[in-house]
Amino acid sequence: MNKNRRNFLKTAVIAGSGAMIYGCGDRKGQSASVHTNLTLEWKMVTAWPPKFPLLGESAEKFAKAVNELTGGRFTIRVYGAGELVPAFESFDAVSQGIAELGHSAPYYWAGKIPSASFFSAVPFGMNTTQTNAWFMYGGGLELMREVYGAFNLIPFLTANTGGQTGGWFNRKIQSVNDLRGLKMRIPGLGGRIITKAGATTVLSPGAELYTNLERGVIDALEWVGPYHDYLMGFHKIAKHYYYPGWQEPTGVIELIVNKKAYEQLPAEYQAIIKYASQSLLSDSISEMFLKNQEYYIKLRDEEKVNILPFPDEVLAFLKEKTNEVITEITSADTFSKKVYESYIQYQKKFAEWYSVGERNYL
Ligand code: CA
Repeated sequence: MNKNRRNFLKTAVIAGSGAMIYGCGDRKGQSASVHTNLTLEWKMVTAWPPKFPLLGESAEKFAKAVNELTGGRFTIRVYGAGELVPAFESFDAVSQGIAELGHSAPYYWAGKIPSASFFSAVPFGMNTTQTNAWFMYGGGLELMREVYGAFNLIPFLTANTGGQTGGWFNRKIQSVNDLRGLKMRIPGLGGRIITKAGATTVLSPGAELYTNLERGVIDALEWVGPYHDYLMGFHKIAKHYYYPGWQEPTGVIELIVNKKAYEQLPAEYQAIIKYASQSLLSDSISEMFLKNQEYYIKLRDEEKVNILPFPDEVLAFLKEKTNEVITEITSADTFSKKVYESYIQYQKKFAEWYSVGERNYL
């Protein structure tokens, strides 16, 4: 038996007996165990329109889970964007304690936290599985907590859109030249990158996207993936639907908690927030995977959408510009540099196992 295996067995035996002792003690101590009777009512502000598919729904599911797990003692009232505060003020609202909880996407806060984009989605970066592994086991969440902590916030991962699509275009993208002069709605790092290709980015709120594309205010847009895009009706007005979603290979959705309010919670309620958010993260990934598959087929077969891949030349160019933008961010902000160094280290590491373990299989 080699040394590692011997150590493993030794640890397993100790852990096993430990669990037994713990188990007995637990049963004996049941009458004395701590169950809080604290009744609480918290507010959650979100960056989504009320009941917005998947994202707003996930916030509601979180509130329901917490309520059920506490036997109805901990109630969370969920507010859609604009109901208590506007979408992009939810960060400040939770930071200041106007609401105890927020449901949003990290890259919305890139103006305050330059590294926030790395916690959302990095163009040509890690996919959802890899991103989650970095957050949970590669130190990503600790880095995020370090920078959010300065704003009196504790972030948790609570949902994910999965990999997105490249978007809807009213002109064919056959070469890098076709990006020149393009007016596109594409937020975050993707927007900065496409600007370097000579495109102009237009920031339109979700509610105006359809009419802006229809009237030619924009010639292209990216939103989420087949499910959300279908619900927006973009297939009725755009000619071509492109993949892959180079700009957002994953889409991290965060739960932000007011730090002071969280620290005053009984340990049981803190644990419930942690495990409810983890459970909803997994729930969202499964739901998105299924819905995107179903709506991709609808778009392809029922709506006869022209679904096309970006040419390799265009992707290679965008990748080159991605590196330029990342260098700009990391050289201007030391914390961004620290975050990206950790991120890229894991991206490289995970690519190895992915190519052996997953790509070969696929
Ligand atoms: Ca998007």
